Amino acid sequence: MYNKKMFDLGNNRSVIRDIFEYGKTRIQEVGKDNVYDFSLGNPNVPAPDCIKESIVELLDTMDSTELHGYTSAQGDFEVRRLLAEDINSRFGVNFSADNIYMTVGAAASLTVTLNALCEEGDEFIAIAPYFPEYKVFAEGAGGVLKVVKPDIPNFEIDFDELEKTITKHTKGIIVNSPNNPSGKVYSTETIVKLCNLLDKKQVEYGTNIFLIADEPYREIVYGDVEVPYLPKYYKNTIVCYSYSKSLSLPGERIGYIAVNPEMEHSNEIYLAVCGAGRTLGFVCASSMYQRVVAKCIGKTTDIKYYKENRDLIYNGLNDLGFSCVKPEGAFYLFVKSPIENAVEFCNHAKKYDLLLVPADGFGCPGYVRISYCVSNDMIKRSLPAFEKLAKDYNLI
Ligand code: PLP
Repeated sequence: MYNKKMFDLGNNRSVIRDIFEYGKTRIQEVGKDNVYDFSLGNPNVPAPDCIKESIVELLDTMDSTELHGYTSAQGDFEVRRLLAEDINSRFGVNFSADNIYMTVGAAASLTVTLNALCEEGDEFIAIAPYFPEYKVFAEGAGGVLKVVKPDIPNFEIDFDELEKTITKHTKGIIVNSPNNPSGKVYSTETIVKLCNLLDKKQVEYGTNIFLIADEPYREIVYGDVEVPYLPKYYKNTIVCYSYSKSLSLPGERIGYIAVNPEMEHSNEIYLAVCGAGRTLGFVCASSMYQRVVAKCIGKTTDIKYYKENRDLIYNGLNDLGFSCVKPEGAFYLFVKSPIENAVEFCNHAKKYDLLLVPADGFGCPGYVRISYCVSNDMIKRSLPAFEKLAKDYNLI
C-alpha cells in the first residue's frame, strides 16, 4: 500500500527531535527560563538587516509576476552569475553561472548531488562524527553510506581508516568542515593529504572519486581560522552550500551547488545535477530568496555572538571538569561523556533540565553534542545546572 522504507523514515523521529519535543513539554511544566535546550542547530542570531532591506526593495521595485514566478530550474542567471563572481573573487577560482545550481538549502544540495552521482552499487563515505542525515540522503539516492570511525580525541581524519574504507565502489566522500558536531575545521595540510589520497585511489582503481564539500558553516569560524576552498585542491569537487546558518535563514530554504569547472566532464555532471533536481521535484529554488541572497553577498549573521557563546560554554564546562573539543567553527560543543554510555548521561542531565544530544547517531558513541546557537543568557543561567551535573560524576 505504501513504501515501507519511507514509512520507517517518517515514523522514526530523530533523537534530536525527540529531545526537542521533550523540552517543549518541560517548558509547559517548569517554565521557559528553567529549561536549557541545547538540542537543535536552529540559529538564534537574527538574519542581518540586508535581508529585510532586500526583501522590501525587491517587493517595491520588481515586477511581482517575475519576483514570484518560476526561475530557470538551475536558478536565475543573474543570481548565479553574481554568486560565481563572488566565489571567484574570494577563493581565486574560475566558476561561471553555468557551474552554479540554486537549491533549497544544504539538505537539497546534498540529495541532488548524491542522486546526480550515484549509480548501482556505489558507496559514499562520511567521516565520523557526521551529520546523521547523510545516511538517509545516500540511501535515498540508491547508494550505501560507509563511515570512517572518529579520530578521538583530535577529530581530524583517520587517514589509515579512510584508506581502508575506500574501494573501487567509492563514488564520493562527504567532508563537512567546519564540522557539525565536533566544531573542527580541517587545515590546508589535512585537505592536501586528503586530496593526495583520493588522487592516488582514483589512479589505483581507474575511477572518479568525488569530494562533496558540505559547507553550511563556512563563514562561522572563530579567530583567524581559515577554511580551505576544496575546489582549489581537488578537481572532482562539488560544493554543497547553504545560507541557513551564515545568513540565519534555515526556514527559507536557500543554497546552491557549485560544480568545479576544472573537473573532467564538468558540464555533464552539472546536467546530471539538473536531472536529479528534476526527479526530486524541486522545480526551482525560491525565486525571491535567490535574489535576496544575491543582494546580500558578503554579509553574514553576527558571528561575534556565536564566538561569545563559544567562549562562555567552552570555558564554563572546562572549568567544571568536562572534557571538551575546542570549537574552531560552527556552533556546537562536543563533550566527552563522563560515563561510557552517552545516552544514559544525557538522560541523567534531564534531571537538571539540561537537554543534550548523545552523539551515537553522529557515529561517535561516548560523546555529547551541545548546540550553543542559543542566547548568551541561557548559557549563563545553565551553568549552575551543569555544575550539579559535574558533581554527580565527581568531576569537581
Ligand atoms: N549539513 C550539515 C552538516 C548540517 O548541520 C545541516 C543542518 O543543520 C545541513 C547539512 C542541512 O542544512 P540546510 O538547513 O541548509 O538544509
